[in-house]
Amino acid sequence: MGTSISRDQIEAFIRMWLEAVEQEKEMTGLPIIRDEKTGDPLFFDQRELRLRYLIPVKRIQPFFEGLQRGQVLYTECRSCGSKYFPPQPDCSRCGGTDMEWKPIEGPGKLLTYTVINVKPTSFMHYEDYVVAIARMKEGFNVLAWLKVEDPKQVRVGMDVRLVVDRRKPENYLTYAFVPAESQ
Ligand SMILES: [Zn+2]
Repeated sequence: MGTSISRDQIEAFIRMWLEAVEQEKEMTGLPIIRDEKTGDPLFFDQRELRLRYLIPVKRIQPFFEGLQRGQVLYTECRSCGSKYFPPQPDCSRCGGTDMEWKPIEGPGKLLTYTVINVKPTSFMHYEDYVVAIARMKEGFNVLAWLKVEDPKQVRVGMDVRLVVDRRKPENYLTYAFVPAESQ
């Protein structure tokens, strides 16, 4: 038999993590806490209301450091030139591990988008939002939210930029598109 954990213990752990992650967000702007045993950084995903995920992010930590500097980074394989976004720490094309971290400059061209009116349960606290895919100047596609005043302004083919955004109400740094002409 393995170790069994009671529901109360799980709730206690979650409360402890929540307190730790709130402190981290105040200090660093990111919901990343340390694994108690290994010290490795763990991304605390707060979008899901019932299940919370701790995702090991040690090998893509430069991505989060980039967000703190206001940059959205991708990786490029120094051996074969393949580019990855979301960034990958290894090259799945050639097996290389020597990756360069580079900021996405853009702009991108909007390929497709969807206005989300009926939100899944875990997103109920958001207003209507636009999810878009754009082809970036760097040569890969990015899927992200598109921040616009009015979804009716959105057109396929419009230029967009990728920016760092502190999303409410979770209050952590992530990336989003904005129309290229705006801030
Ligand atoms: Zn490669």
